[in-house]
Amino acid sequence: MKKISLLGSTGSIGVNTLDVVERNPENFQILAMSAGTNVDLFAEQIRKFKPKFAALFEEQKIPLLKEKVADLDVEIFSGEEGCVTVATIDEIDIVVSGVVGKAGLLPAMEALKAGKNLALANKETLVIAGELILKEAQKANSNIIPIDSEHSAIFQALNGERKERIKKIILTASGGPFRTYNANQMESITVKDALNHPNWKMGSKITIDSSTMMNKGLEYIEAKWLFGIETPVEIVVHAQSIIHSMIEFVDTSIIAQLGIPDMRVPIAYALTYPDRFECNLPSLDLTAMGNLTFEVPDFERFPCLQFAINAMEIGKTMPAVLNAANEIAVEAFLNELIPYKDIAELIRLVMHNHIPTKLNELQDILDADQWAREETTKLITVAH
Ligand code: MG
Repeated sequence: MKKISLLGSTGSIGVNTLDVVERNPENFQILAMSAGTNVDLFAEQIRKFKPKFAALFEEQKIPLLKEKVADLDVEIFSGEEGCVTVATIDEIDIVVSGVVGKAGLLPAMEALKAGKNLALANKETLVIAGELILKEAQKANSNIIPIDSEHSAIFQALNGERKERIKKIILTASGGPFRTYNANQMESITVKDALNHPNWKMGSKITIDSSTMMNKGLEYIEAKWLFGIETPVEIVVHAQSIIHSMIEFVDTSIIAQLGIPDMRVPIAYALTYPDRFECNLPSLDLTAMGNLTFEVPDFERFPCLQFAINAMEIGKTMPAVLNAANEIAVEAFLNELIPYKDIAELIRLVMHNHIPTKLNELQDILDADQWAREETTKLITVAH
């Protein structure tokens, strides 16, 4: 029986993880869970999965949560500190992080420090602090198992292979809902348009990131940290999202992982690795698919992709700044405070205004993150 701490239980990854656990009650137990603000769903989940420990990030809602689960035997923690507590409890075997954005950083870091295996869906953690995260994992001998479907595919393609024999990683991208839009059409995109992803059902932040292709940019950085920063990563647009990514080895052989676009597959793999189990999901019907297509990404229509690659090349505090500017800009777009095209423009400006500094400790990253959030907010206020 694997004992799980699930971080971000009310988000899309969290809900899918609980679905996987529910299908395998003899193998998995939810011992602890955390959520951000959705107290109604969180209380329901606590009632159903009966964790011993639960943390809610939004401290003002703690009294309401306590009231809702008063009859249950669960210890409640609050705030960021509480989220770290439930990620580091002694009896936990594996921590699943489905937190959105930078909020996932500290719990992930502390879980790794505590020697926990970390099934990681929260790519921002590696984007912001890849080097420090890897250092902590190595020190404590804890493993990071990717849940992001592309990285799960690469991780699976690496089974039994040697990292040094990778020639390049081929990171596939759906291209999002605006893959075929011309520059003119890109001018008048609404929130509703951008939230309409063709292949994947996900939370709103990552869905917007997919539409700007920032998601692929963040995944490019994530792949570098997970599979070697010297390893070349080629991005290929593959509209059907059937091949989740590939590795070309030095002998030119390419190994790919294919499957239906359903996050429960990589989540289950992260939980069962190195084993697999019956998921009771529909099989991929290749003949029904007919064609799989591949295209070169358009860096002009999707500048965020280039910004992310540049940020990784510059290194230091720049990836953290890219991420923070993106989080603030996406939130402003979702709240209809800025037009769609301003997401990329804001990130470009904030990166331009940032003087990257060396990373010695976590505080350097948190400072850069804070600066970038303020700078982006300032630019939004000035322009609108
Ligand atoms: Mg992905």
